[in-house]
Amino acid sequence: MAERRVRVRFAPSPTGALHIGGVRTALYNYLFARRHGGDFVFRIEDTDSLRFVPGAEEYIIESFRWLGLKFDEGVTFGGEHGPYRQSERREIYKEYVEKLLANDKAYIAFDTPEELECKRNEIPNFQYDARTRMQMRNSLTLSKEETDQLIEDGEQYVVRFKIDPGEEVHVNDMIRGDVMIKSDILDDKVLYKSADELPTYHLANIVDDHLMEITHVIRGEEWLPSAPLHVLLYRAFGWEATMPQFAHLPLLLKPEGKGKLSKRDGDRLGFPVFPLEWKDPKTGEISTGFRESGYFPEAVINFLALLGWNPGTDQELFSLDELVAAFDITRCSKAGAKFDFQKGIWFNHEYILRKSDDEIARLFAPIVANNGVDETLERVTQVVSMMKDRVNFVKELWPLCSFFFIPPTEYDEKTVKKRWKPDSAKVMSELAEVLESVQDFTVEGQEHVVLAWVEQQGYKLGDVMNAFRLALVGIGKGPGMFDISAFLGKEETLKRLHKAIDTLK
Ligand code: GLU
Repeated sequence: MAERRVRVRFAPSPTGALHIGGVRTALYNYLFARRHGGDFVFRIEDTDSLRFVPGAEEYIIESFRWLGLKFDEGVTFGGEHGPYRQSERREIYKEYVEKLLANDKAYIAFDTPEELECKRNEIPNFQYDARTRMQMRNSLTLSKEETDQLIEDGEQYVVRFKIDPGEEVHVNDMIRGDVMIKSDILDDKVLYKSADELPTYHLANIVDDHLMEITHVIRGEEWLPSAPLHVLLYRAFGWEATMPQFAHLPLLLKPEGKGKLSKRDGDRLGFPVFPLEWKDPKTGEISTGFRESGYFPEAVINFLALLGWNPGTDQELFSLDELVAAFDITRCSKAGAKFDFQKGIWFNHEYILRKSDDEIARLFAPIVANNGVDETLERVTQVVSMMKDRVNFVKELWPLCSFFFIPPTEYDEKTVKKRWKPDSAKVMSELAEVLESVQDFTVEGQEHVVLAWVEQQGYKLGDVMNAFRLALVGIGKGPGMFDISAFLGKEETLKRLHKAIDTLK
């Protein structure tokens, strides 16, 4: 058989904000598609109208736009296999439900919720399957005429998949290998409901994967229990030859302790679990996103790529292209991946370092302007180059850097106690005079003159510099002193020195 072109899909249900685990699923699909020169399809699985949340689809699309993960076809992207929204494919599913019915692979069931409840009370661990289906009200126990009549009378029904017992169902998983379950444990799943004339997830999922020529189904571990049923559906349709290969990705786990990562973990420990900020349309509750928290999309991608997959080397920093080149789905782990959000912060820091000062300055400049400071981009870039290695997020720059732009209005009490000695005012006055005389006010130009003066006076360099720092910065921290004074320039440096002398005495 000719090699098929690789086609994968990301198929979220628009039930709310996209969880970060969903983003990872999409990322692995993307990497797999690119690695194998295939297509990445975006499908919306919205057959469960009760769970539909307005705005969710737009949110998902915007998330991937921000992350820079491009789909080749799908909802809003077009393509030859559309429509890509399941709610727009009702007629297609009906046809396939009819096929299963005609081939005796499915049957119509009329049992009301009350009748089902009654059975559950009667039979312990009741399951609608080969052992019980002949006791129920369905097209297997009713005559054809009765069945047709009930439908004609408008009675609601569902179509159930007729699963044969006594079979071993094998799912060939690219990560987990051969997963086998016995068909006896499966129930006759509902595939279609007359009430809303819509198929259930299982049927729509399989029909679409088939019609959209999907070759590999890469999805979260929570779908592994459905996989045997999906394999049986492919068989029932006679589509074994083009059945996709499966890969069920490991769960994302809590940063500490056991269990699945939840939004509550994020709230509790202070990290986002959504790519973008999300406002719940029902409750109005706002949840922060990675974007709004100041993460770079590249950092989020790099972080997620390594949650459940490893390249087999020590390399941690990967561009998207490097990830594509390195990605091998068989290197995904079976065991759940701890969501180490500190590592996510570390990645962001690394990307700050890797980005040019100019790029960071362009992000920082609006913050500077919002604080009422009018500075050129060049000056902001100078500050960024001195300070960016100290922060994990651009938003952390302002509190650390504001002194470059705004003179201190007060002096940190503790630092004053420790660093402002009885003779500091006198020494700083002398320093001001020395600096006044410096022609070349660059870092080297000042250093040269000031160090000579300190030595000649027999002062302790540490004491001088500490007081100098306090005068210019207002606290005991910051980059190299002459870097600061060179940036401020002679006039501003002297102004700040005199102000400190006057204030602190
Ligand atoms: N609609 C399912 C979800 O929301 C898709 C599962 C699958 O990829 O088969 O995750």
